[in-house]
Amino acid sequence: MAAAAAMGSIREERPVVDLQKCNLCRECLLYCPDAALAVVDGEVRVNLHFCKGCGVCAVECPVRAITMVPEYTGDRGLV
Ligand code: SF4
Ligand code: SF4
Repeated sequence: MAAAAAMGSIREERPVVDLQKCNLCRECLLYCPDAALAVVDGEVRVNLHFCKGCGVCAVECPVRAITMVPEYTGDRGLV
């Protein structure tokens, strides 16, 4: 897992999912280039070991349920 750990160390932003807005359409899962998103127990989760912080998921979410937040100040990252 050394490469995965390195990914987290270079990421400047990470996605935070607003579960109140998310309608589980799974568009973000389709577009994520690193397969870092999954639906678990009826919620979209971000695997921060794989997420590189590119922001594609936030752009593609049709209901704007994903917000990119600075890596070290966000408070609702879901792993
Ligand atoms: S920020 Fe990029 S790598 Fe991270 S979950 Fe979103 S699309 Fe995937
Ligand atoms: S694209 Fe947006 S609404 Fe669709 S599953 Fe992902 S976070 Fe939820």
